[in-house]
Amino acid sequence: MILKDKVAIVTGGARGIGREIALTLAREGSDLVIVDVDNQALTKIEEEIKELGRQILVFSVDVTALSQVEEMVNKTLDKLKKIDILINNAGITRDALLIRMKEEDWDKVLAVNLKGVFNCTKAVSKVMMKQRSGKIVSISSIIGLIGNVGQANYAASKAGIIGLTKSVAKELAPRGINVNAIAPGFIQTEMTASIPENIKAKMLERIPLGKFGQPQDVANLVMFLASEKASYITGQVITIDGGMV
Ligand code: NDP
Repeated sequence: MILKDKVAIVTGGARGIGREIALTLAREGSDLVIVDVDNQALTKIEEEIKELGRQILVFSVDVTALSQVEEMVNKTLDKLKKIDILINNAGITRDALLIRMKEEDWDKVLAVNLKGVFNCTKAVSKVMMKQRSGKIVSISSIIGLIGNVGQANYAASKAGIIGLTKSVAKELAPRGINVNAIAPGFIQTEMTASIPENIKAKMLERIPLGKFGQPQDVANLVMFLASEKASYITGQVITIDGGMV
């Protein structure tokens, strides 16, 4: 167990990649705090983590609201006394070509995907700075590196995470806090399930390893970056995409 008795917060941790990250960290010995807006899924993950014998707190919190995030951090400290790991995973898509993209779709994607990372990182950093230790991992995307038709809002938000990560890594390094980002390629979750089969087939042709990624692939990398084994890595964006980029 490389995360024994750590306390980890995972945003968007009730479903998809976040859920797999939460289960993987728990199997490695970490206690979990799950932040999500999907209440039904929260109840399910709560039971699953309890079955693994770890402590679990679940919060129905919208990461776009700084006051809700700060309240969640305070309650976590009351109950679990420390925060070792923050995984900024909550994210959404609202795809459309730029000329058809509604202002609210731009605002919503930037609010969840980028401001959400700012809110959680800001609230948790204060705790980690006092502790003089911590690991922050944010889930960006290869779309933030290469762009994509119909995803100007999503690409901008994911590229924003990269700039935020590199800046905060420099600010927090003197306090022994590591800040990194992961840029996954195509990972099979509900987010990608609705992509039409013909487009999926075209994407597959561009993946040298010849297969889509699984949430567990991303969770394995998160587990490493959140552990002491990665303590000399900071300010990096690690791509996990089967060789696509
Ligand atoms: P999912 O949609 O399966 O899961 C995202 C989770 O985040 C959901 O439980 C969702 O709840 C929650 N969430 C959404 N908005 C908020 C909010 N405002 N506050 C708190 N929680 C929220 O997505 P994935 O698991 O596929 O993606 C996880 C992350 O990985 C995202 O950041 C995504 O951009 C990124 N990523 C995914 C890739 C992929 O191929 N799947 C590739 C590259 C990056 P609800 O469902 O109720 O909205």
